[in-house]
Amino acid sequence: MPKGYQKRTRGLFDPNSEEPYRLSRSKIDLFHECPRCFYLDQRLGIPRTSFPAFSLNNAVDELLKREFDIHRAKGSAHPLMKAYKIDAVPLKDSRMEEWRDALRRGVQYHHKPTNLILRGGLDDVWVTPEGALHVVDYKATSKKDEVTIDGYWQQGYKRQVEIYQWLLRGIGEKVSDIAYFVYVNGNSEAPSFDGKLEFDVKVIPHKGDTSWIEPLVLKMNDCLRGEEVPAANPTCEYCGYREAAGKELQARVAKKRVVKKAAGSGTLGI
Ligand code: SF4
Repeated sequence: MPKGYQKRTRGLFDPNSEEPYRLSRSKIDLFHECPRCFYLDQRLGIPRTSFPAFSLNNAVDELLKREFDIHRAKGSAHPLMKAYKIDAVPLKDSRMEEWRDALRRGVQYHHKPTNLILRGGLDDVWVTPEGALHVVDYKATSKKDEVTIDGYWQQGYKRQVEIYQWLLRGIGEKVSDIAYFVYVNGNSEAPSFDGKLEFDVKVIPHKGDTSWIEPLVLKMNDCLRGEEVPAANPTCEYCGYREAAGKELQARVAKKRVVKKAAGSGTLGI
């Protein structure tokens, strides 16, 4: 049974604490999208409502991970890497398990200028013969058109891998500018289902630009430590909805109070 909306009271940022504060990659993206939503979440404990996880995407991620792990163990390139002429192999490193743990650990970078521990869970890392790391992210979709990373939603995918590149560089790794998306596209055009969904798999390179991240993290830190609630994003329809609903409800409560008071004092109060 859903519990309904829950305000968070634990794990909020305390501006008086000297302990490093942990923020995940998705919170950096939340700040990028709307500083007000970020502040409501981190300082006031009012998170956005959550959506159920897409279990089909999780299944695809898991299967891809297993497939690449076979080649990681052997130190060989996956056939897809060969097909796309990528001179690398899946990275075999004892930290991979930690780096892939998106919920609790991931790549964790203590950013000293802000005393924030910024972290993000990777899908995969490939390594070149020169020891440079490629960030790799698995994506799953189902669309008739060829998949690309040029659409509106895919801008967030690019930011995601760029943050991973920045985190890895932050902990001292040599990181290639090129990240890869292993993009699988479920074929909904098949003549029948037969209990099987077929996928096309494509590897799409992306040349990451991480120059925007440090300035954004500094701004995010100022926002986090400030007492001012940032302005709403004018293009977001939810804040307009929330404000309109809030005003209407408050007006109703105020009207009820006036009527009650008037009834108590024997006047009509209208
Ligand atoms: S503008 Fe939208 S994204 Fe920002 S606080 Fe309001 S609801 Fe959240």
